[in-house]
Amino acid sequence: TETKYCVKQFKMNILKNNWYTESCDMWPGGTFSFEVKEILHQEKSPYQDIIVCDTTSFGRVLILDGIIQCTEKDEFSYQEMLSFLALCSHKNPEKVLIVGGGDGGVAREVSKHPKVKEIVQVEIDARVVEVSKKYLPYMSVGFNSEKLTLHIGDGFEFMKNHSNEFDVILTDSSDPVGPAVSLFQENYFALMKSALKPNGIVCSQAGTFWNDLDLVTNTLKYCRNQFPVGAYAYTSVPTYPSGLIGFVLGSLDPDVKFDSPQITFTKEEERAMKLKYYNSDIHKAAFTLPTFLRNQLN
Ligand code: SAM
Repeated sequence: TETKYCVKQFKMNILKNNWYTESCDMWPGGTFSFEVKEILHQEKSPYQDIIVCDTTSFGRVLILDGIIQCTEKDEFSYQEMLSFLALCSHKNPEKVLIVGGGDGGVAREVSKHPKVKEIVQVEIDARVVEVSKKYLPYMSVGFNSEKLTLHIGDGFEFMKNHSNEFDVILTDSSDPVGPAVSLFQENYFALMKSALKPNGIVCSQAGTFWNDLDLVTNTLKYCRNQFPVGAYAYTSVPTYPSGLIGFVLGSLDPDVKFDSPQITFTKEEERAMKLKYYNSDIHKAAFTLPTFLRNQLN
């Protein structure tokens, strides 16, 4: 719930001698720190504290309400895997909805997929989009796609007014604090199910199993309560807590096997799409879970 997590403010987190330490009750007793070269931007939007800083080892970093959202060094792992695990599990992902994703990185990846014709994105905070356009151009380039229509609004509310419309829904949400709390609940999975066309697929950011096994377990349970097929996958992102992040995927097609992609790209296609992390082998591997997690989730 919203009160479970008490995020410390950036000012309390920032450092002595230019070291920023990200501490949060979602991962108690441990922290990640990085050296800051310069704070490029800092504001309080109607929804959250927004910070962009330049760092010595991770390039530019976007921080919302004190939590790292993406860094220039490793963002491609998250953006590519969130997008392509779902897109390549669908035979014909023509129309895609992105919820959240205010930095533009997921839109950048989705727009590369040759079968995608139309992308709709709903992001709650226009300021994240504007700040990203100014300071994070390598991600916000996604907003230039001719396939994309961007709405500013709440993804949960948006979903209530759409049915039978999308082939794939990607939820590129911040952690379940503040405006993103609703995106981790079972009724959100029920709304996504109605917004999908037959055989549609969802993929949501779903936390890391080292730090919040309850969050992972519950999000997958909510998904499986609504979808005939549900699975958890994860990818390596060194600047996220515990160095990885997971995704919950659900499919309305009962025959989908998430660890066996429906669409595979040749090496030439991977190069042309400038994929740096995703390939068919890593797609399959992402669903292979350690024993304790497999026992917990299955
Ligand atoms: N990769 C990041 C991560 O996992 O930490 C997520 C990045 S993206 C910047 C997250 C976005 O979700 C933010 O821009 C935030 O404003 C947006 N967001 C949060 N709650 C939302 C909601 N209810 N509807 C739409 N967008 C939302």
